[in-house]
Amino acid sequence: MSLKIAFIGVGNMASAIIGGLRASGYAGNAIVGSSINIDDHPRLEQRFGMTMHTDNKVAVAEADVIFLCVKPNLLQTVVEEFAPVVRPDQLFVSVAAGVEISSLEAWLKQPVAVVRSMPNTPALVGSGMSGLIANTHTTDAQKTWVSQAFDSFGSHVWIDDEAQMHTVTALSGSAPAYFFRILEVMIEAGIAQGLDEATSRKLATYAMKGAAAMVTELDEDIDQLRRNITSPNGTTQAALETLEDKGVHSLMTAAVDACAARSKELG
Ligand code: NAD
Repeated sequence: MSLKIAFIGVGNMASAIIGGLRASGYAGNAIVGSSINIDDHPRLEQRFGMTMHTDNKVAVAEADVIFLCVKPNLLQTVVEEFAPVVRPDQLFVSVAAGVEISSLEAWLKQPVAVVRSMPNTPALVGSGMSGLIANTHTTDAQKTWVSQAFDSFGSHVWIDDEAQMHTVTALSGSAPAYFFRILEVMIEAGIAQGLDEATSRKLATYAMKGAAAMVTELDEDIDQLRRNITSPNGTTQAALETLEDKGVHSLMTAAVDACAARSKELG
């Protein structure tokens, strides 16, 4: 029998996760949710075949796994409010950015399994990447279940040091925005050379999508994939030399470092 899952807060991120679970065959009647936007409830129930509640305690009490999907600044109030109904056999999975496991454990007020996750927005189209870390109360079976749940809307990595969540943020959580920015610049360059916007956008976007797919689907070093399309004195070499001359290495390293540093500052 599949585990009963509750979502506390059913907005963008929860919807991406529920969509993945449903698409991977998880039954709607094994999923409940709770959110304060009651106007959304009929739409969510119809879309996912799930049951929505207005009381977080009711949703938590009937679930084996509880996804915490409210904004980080609301999490303490929300968790402390339902803490009296928490059972030791339950598993809590937080998606809240920047909220540490020790805080969640303190708010839950009893030893219970907690997984902290950092998903990213490509989860909305089934291509998410999530960094995961579990507390000491989480069993291997629970970790396996969590891995499968996160793979239903993309992929995942486990980390074993919570400080690495800052790097997960820099390489994954925030990183789609770097590629959006790079795409914007490439599209502008294509337009400057005379293409219309739609054509420029399609060419640049499929180059990015195709390059990422080659890295994930072919068993080859990225370095080799790059060399395969770089003929001596050819067009690609001209572009790559310009990227190096203009400092792509220091630029991207500085961007990743700045993101991780800001993540540390925000705690
Ligand atoms: P959202 O605003 O779309 O959804 C928040 C949900 O919480 C809404 O359904 C709202 O009704 C509900 N809510 C608010 N107060 C509540 C309460 N007291 N009890 C129950 N439900 C309540 O937000 P989101 O973008 O889905 O973000 C949710 C979490 O996901 C955040 O903690 C965020 O850090 C994390 N996250 C989001 C992204 C992203 O790209 N959106 C990425 C990584 C992590």
